[in-house]
Amino acid sequence: MSQEAPAKSTDPNKLVVRNIGLLLSGDLDQPILDADTVVAVDGVIHAVGKEKEIDTSGATTTIDAKGTALAPGLIDSHVHPVCGDWTPRQNQLGWIDSCLHGGVTTMVSAGEVHTPGRPKDIVGLKAMAIFAQRAFQAFRPGGVKVYAGAPVLEQGMVEDDFKELAAAGVKFLGEVGLGSVKDGITGRRMVAWARKYGIQSTIHTGGPSIPGSSLIDKDMVLETDADVVGHINGGHTALPDDQIVALCERSPRALEIVHNGNERAGLLALRTAKNGKQLHRVILGTDSPAGSGVQPLGILRMISMLSSLGEIPAEVAICLATGNTAKMRSLNCGLIAAGREATFVFLDTAQQSAGKNLLDSIQKGDLAGIGMVITDGAVSIHRSRNTPPATRVPEVVKQ
Ligand SMILES: [Zn+2]
Repeated sequence: MSQEAPAKSTDPNKLVVRNIGLLLSGDLDQPILDADTVVAVDGVIHAVGKEKEIDTSGATTTIDAKGTALAPGLIDSHVHPVCGDWTPRQNQLGWIDSCLHGGVTTMVSAGEVHTPGRPKDIVGLKAMAIFAQRAFQAFRPGGVKVYAGAPVLEQGMVEDDFKELAAAGVKFLGEVGLGSVKDGITGRRMVAWARKYGIQSTIHTGGPSIPGSSLIDKDMVLETDADVVGHINGGHTALPDDQIVALCERSPRALEIVHNGNERAGLLALRTAKNGKQLHRVILGTDSPAGSGVQPLGILRMISMLSSLGEIPAEVAICLATGNTAKMRSLNCGLIAAGREATFVFLDTAQQSAGKNLLDSIQKGDLAGIGMVITDGAVSIHRSRNTPPATRVPEVVKQ
């Protein structure tokens, strides 16, 4: 049997998503948009609005959202990938693909620190970072974008190392404190070099995560001044409450709450940030894979936990996992707005939830059901195999 090759075409790939019941923008300033239609061209959002006001003609793919909610794909601000879709931490395959079924479409590496035999000499750590950056740029499990290649600071690194890493495409540092740099003065100097060349930084906050790592307290976090206060709620062991409050109040940087942390401390950080009108700095991660395993629904669980126990509206909690992270980490995803990546998750009330609707169900602590995920304008998955089943699911009506 022969199959005709598709005609070569330079026509744009036009995606129309219509009949959206609730448009969750990811933007903390306006989390819900009065819109029912999104149009994307070649993987980039082109228009957001009411169907009758938007040009939906010439669609190559049309999706009927069936009244479900559309949100930006979720971002996990803190993962520890190693190679491909394998993690040696729990010797598990397919963990990134499993997270896609939890709505995560973008991940940021906080260091490939679980790599067996991880090189700690400077040439070796640079080579590993560049390898990971290249490999994950070319390999997207299920469509998930993994920003990897996050070197861990070691004693002896000089300014030229950061210049070289940046020129090679490295954009993030692994958690400060996981290598041999364990004092604020050295950390601050290296983080400043990284920043000078456009490389973002994160610092481990709290007690040791596994045997061999060590305590990083608020003084070192403040002195180092990394761009992200990594797992402010500990990974797992949190700092004392007064230190968490001090970090929220005195650091101007992103405040990252993780699933694999102390949940009570996470709620304390959220409330402190909220009371100080600093919610825009709160971002979410899982810090997985870890000793606690892999959490395919970790970001969804954080959204429900922070909304229900932290008493913030569900649409605001979703911003913490989307637009906030995108803004704090300079990513072009995370918002439903023209010019952003057309990467979406379709959510609906989980079947039999006691919630009146999607947002109410999240505020009551239930998880949302995922009916479809789109990455860069193309359908990655239909109904999630991991979430509780969504009541309604979108449908591709034209392809
Ligand atoms: Zn950590």
